[in-house]
Amino acid sequence: MTPRRPRLGVMGGTFDPIHHGHLVAASEVAAEFDLDEVVFVPTGNPTFKQGQHVTAAEHRYLMAVIATASNPRFTVSRVDIDRPGLTYTVDTLRDLNLHRPGADLFFITGADAVEQILSWKDPDELFGMAQFVAVTRPGHTLSIAGLPADRVSQHEIPALAISSTDVRARARAGQPVWYLVPDGVVQYIAKHGLYRGNDE
Ligand code: ATP
Ligand code: MG
Repeated sequence: MTPRRPRLGVMGGTFDPIHHGHLVAASEVAAEFDLDEVVFVPTGNPTFKQGQHVTAAEHRYLMAVIATASNPRFTVSRVDIDRPGLTYTVDTLRDLNLHRPGADLFFITGADAVEQILSWKDPDELFGMAQFVAVTRPGHTLSIAGLPADRVSQHEIPALAISSTDVRARARAGQPVWYLVPDGVVQYIAKHGLYRGNDE
């Protein structure tokens, strides 16, 4: 019997910081699509966040490691933060294909990000490299109209109205971020004074 091809979920994001919305999305898609692993890939320089301040990649990477450490099926990849220049998803998928030959890739996006896929670099190549799974997100209408139906699926997940933008604003204002992000991430933010203007 030929062994089943590994099924690898790919959760791309800025993760500034990683929060429970990201983790629930990955967990739900892993269960629904029978994934063996989900790799979280923090962006290097995000294409869509040029001109905005983004926390140093090493902090974002370490928070992703802390947040995923207890889940044996969750891992974190450095492919995007170690590649110079802007981060494009097509490069992420190319690199993961090189690192994990023979795996079937499932790229997970929230309802807000899926609206932009056609504007991403090399969209036709993208759909050849991975299945895309678009998940619901509070405040955004999920639509996969116009995307190739055989390569893009949608999946409803428990609604967590959490965004990294809100977590950063809370940390800056001295408001609690407990239970929005994993405990270790709360402590990491406090330890390094992130989002208070001294995290350059
Ligand atoms: P920011 O506010 O800085 O943009 P974010 O919360 O949107 O941060 P990102 O790192 O931009 O987080 O998102 C990474 C991926 O996770 C995207 O595909 C996004 O749509 C998805 N995502 C983020 N938060 C949620 C959520 N609460 N529910 C479902 N999907 C989410
Ligand atoms: Mg976002």
